[in-house]
Amino acid sequence: MRINDTIAALSTPKGKGGIAVIRISGADAVEVAGRVFLPACGKPLGEIEHSRAVYGRIYENAERAGAPIDDGIATVFYAPRSFSGEDTVEISCHGGLLVSEAVLSALLSAGARHAEAGEFTRRAFVNGKLGLSEAEALSNLLEAKSHSQMKLARSGLDGHLEKKCGEIYSSLKEILSSLYAKIDYPDEDLADMGSGEMRKRVGDALEEVKKTASTYKSGRAIAEGIKTVICGRPNVGKSSLYNRIVGREAAIVTDIEGTTRDILEETASLGGVTLRLCDTAGLRSSGDRVERIGIERAYTKIDEAELILAVFDGSCGLTDEDEELIAYLFDKKERVVAVVNKSELAAKIDKQRLVSAFGEIIEISAELEDGIEPLAAVAESRFLDKSIDIENDAVVFGARQNAALTKTAELLCGALEILACEGEIDAAAFAVETAMAALCELDGRQVGEDIVSQIFSKFCVGK
Ligand code: GDP
Repeated sequence: MRINDTIAALSTPKGKGGIAVIRISGADAVEVAGRVFLPACGKPLGEIEHSRAVYGRIYENAERAGAPIDDGIATVFYAPRSFSGEDTVEISCHGGLLVSEAVLSALLSAGARHAEAGEFTRRAFVNGKLGLSEAEALSNLLEAKSHSQMKLARSGLDGHLEKKCGEIYSSLKEILSSLYAKIDYPDEDLADMGSGEMRKRVGDALEEVKKTASTYKSGRAIAEGIKTVICGRPNVGKSSLYNRIVGREAAIVTDIEGTTRDILEETASLGGVTLRLCDTAGLRSSGDRVERIGIERAYTKIDEAELILAVFDGSCGLTDEDEELIAYLFDKKERVVAVVNKSELAAKIDKQRLVSAFGEIIEISAELEDGIEPLAAVAESRFLDKSIDIENDAVVFGARQNAALTKTAELLCGALEILACEGEIDAAAFAVETAMAALCELDGRQVGEDIVSQIFSKFCVGK
């Protein structure tokens, strides 16, 4: 991927719309756009001020022969004050499929190259306009499917996480320079930090790293989602609950046992938590081979799940199949929420038996959509830390970021141990320095090309 040439792409979705926006970025962006876009005011595009929008006509080629393809608005941004950090022009034209394609192809024949997926954002990263975690947040913002995902992504894009890590980095840098002063001038009292102070500062930085890393539990529950399984014997209302949570009739609901045979899987939100939700085959002994395979898969899903919604039918007593499930879930209790369905019917189930097995029960009526809120509250209490303000605090929202912080914490622990036993100053300095490098993986200053490419490939063309 060349990094200095001028690229162009449609930045709005392909299709019919009110307007379409075509973005051009690179050293020759204004010149290339100016070849086909003629401002109505008579000034060439290159004389238009930064962030000014001008009305004009768009021509098929630089000679501007014949009728214009369209008319529209061009906004000019000069480096570095643009999204990509390069000279950028955004042309808004009419949003017809053919019109926007014609404008893009005019720009390509005027000298731009078609941008690859994520190339504008990648250039923004290369030009220091945003860090790698911020780019990840931007990707999450574009993909957000719930309000909590949107808020968390917005917060990441605002740089709360990178700012926090920047502060930790600065304090480690001060510690490192004191360590180097001790190494270079061991006999002189040049270091501005005594060894007690140094230990305290490393300890404080370690605490900050750990505190930041601990937000990943909530960040992951929102951004990536919790592996969740709905299980129970046939006809207790698993598919009905699945449909209530995903918000549409995705699973077939009937009173015929054994309807759900394969695993149904979808991402959905329950309160502020994102669930990677599975509906499974009803658990019973079945002579049907296909159903038996489905039941085996259900058990695998139960074993893998972080949240198990065990559903029981409140309108009848516990059956042997229910008891078998209760026994199977005995050593998985911490991950189970016992859900008693059909709460609008007269209760016949032994609730006390379930309370003693699982600690608490949530009563719902999947049919009447009742009791979903208390269920959401339980999921939130298990996976979200209420003391975190996801809009304003530094929240870790990706496995890559968490790995960088975990590595930083381990290295700082090592540095602290060396300092605590008055060990080799060189070794302590090395540990602090490598911790700083690990921390830099967060904003992308210390990551390999393969990881950078992987992150930007998730974007669409035009972003
Ligand atoms: P599954 O086999 O466990 O997936 O159960 P389904 O969701 O297919 O539901 C089995 C039967 O129970 C269907 O006839 C549903 O209409 C009915 N059902 C599900 N939830 C409720 C509920 O909350 N109340 C009542 N009365 N019936 C329900």
